[in-house]
Amino acid sequence: MLRGRLPSRVFRILKQAGELAERTSVSAFVVGGFVRDLLPGRPNLDLDLVIEGDGIAYARALARAAKAEVNVHGRFETAVIVFPDGFKLDVATARTEHYEYPTALPTVQRSSIKEDLYRRDFTINTLAIRLNPGHFGELIDFYGGQRDLKEKTIRVLHSLSFVEDPTRVFRAIRFEQRFGFRLETETSALIKGVAETDLFHRLSGSRLSEELILLLSEEDPRKMIARLGELHLLRFLHPALKRSARLDSLLKAVPKVLGWYKRTSLNWADRKVSVAGVCSGSPAGLMEGWLVYFMALMEVIPGKAVGETLRRLKLSERHAERIRVSRYSSSNLLRRLSRRSPLRPAEVNRVLVGLSVETLLFLMVKARSESVKRQISAYLTTYRHIKPILTGTDLKTMGLKPSPIFKKILSQLLSARLNGEVQTKADERDLVKRIINGATP
Ligand code: ATP
Ligand code: MG
Repeated sequence: MLRGRLPSRVFRILKQAGELAERTSVSAFVVGGFVRDLLPGRPNLDLDLVIEGDGIAYARALARAAKAEVNVHGRFETAVIVFPDGFKLDVATARTEHYEYPTALPTVQRSSIKEDLYRRDFTINTLAIRLNPGHFGELIDFYGGQRDLKEKTIRVLHSLSFVEDPTRVFRAIRFEQRFGFRLETETSALIKGVAETDLFHRLSGSRLSEELILLLSEEDPRKMIARLGELHLLRFLHPALKRSARLDSLLKAVPKVLGWYKRTSLNWADRKVSVAGVCSGSPAGLMEGWLVYFMALMEVIPGKAVGETLRRLKLSERHAERIRVSRYSSSNLLRRLSRRSPLRPAEVNRVLVGLSVETLLFLMVKARSESVKRQISAYLTTYRHIKPILTGTDLKTMGLKPSPIFKKILSQLLSARLNGEVQTKADERDLVKRIINGATP
């Protein structure tokens, strides 16, 4: 199965990993999501190796043999090997974890593969494949992972699992919704139990936001949010956050807008647009879709609660700022765009300039009128990439001395170009002359 389902390059890495394990007298296993996804034939090339023995020494040796780089994380006895072509391989020492108190970061001790798999979140993630030659390709299933995979079930390994680590609740929802599985009865009851305690409040802000970002980065975050709502978990982001028709309608619009944006930016990447004065667009990869969903969530709670949520979740200042701008300014921005329509491109530019792509997309989500949406989309796809042909240097060549007037002239040039009032470099020069002579205000 491994040979048939994996790219030959990945298959060879696994072979090589097994051979090195044998030579250095350790046992190597590939574990977790890779195995879970391999069996039903879902492509997943996130390789996690577990070593019975010294995983870090093993990772160093494998990296040396493959002329790859290795980054070591000593506290957890883990390492990442980065191959020359950028392919990554996570290596860990088989370990057990002890929780000093619920939600604490675990203390770690070396152990066997069986114990290592027991500390994992769900049975479907406890499957492993042996790599040592002689046993290469053997499936290891201590905890009923294959059965639950077949029965499409998310099941914890023991009843304290969510108490030890409540982030697993979010993981459960993520896997359940991503794969269309269901929570096993006992697991579901345990989640409801945890939701009634204050365990989530004891979780650090950064761990909570990490999980939330993963959840909102899934293929269909709407389903994830709906499930959080059903299980009464939204209140751990903020007590004021509840499901509502308004939230539903915002959430419904988000994937449409994100889909539109991804399609258009892919087109830019293909065409490398470079018409006079128009630079090529930015790739969609730089846009963070989860942030737009998060903006939708923040839209339906009071302004004060938004500040509280951002403090609780300890989001990066860059993200927090984008969320604040959306929450506190979007209504005003939309009002300015719809005041008189259609606005000229330069006026649209003046309203929207400087906003993050995510905020702009959220404005499209929130906009009710088609003409306002069109203005924002035109800004995103075209206006924001437009620049005058003349630069400061050109102005100097024209005999102007650098001064604050420069900025004003360049901004007038930009407006004229946006509105289609100038086409050529000569047009721009004429306009500059008219501005200097006071012919243009
Ligand atoms: P994905 O496809 O989302 O990457 P994954 O199963 O590979 O899913 P990772 O977050 O990459 O998940 O983690 C790798 C493995 O580590 C998981 O398969 C799981 O066994 C284990 N794991 C991760 N987080 C936890 C956790 N909070 N508690 C227990 N085990 C965990
Ligand atoms: Mg993974």
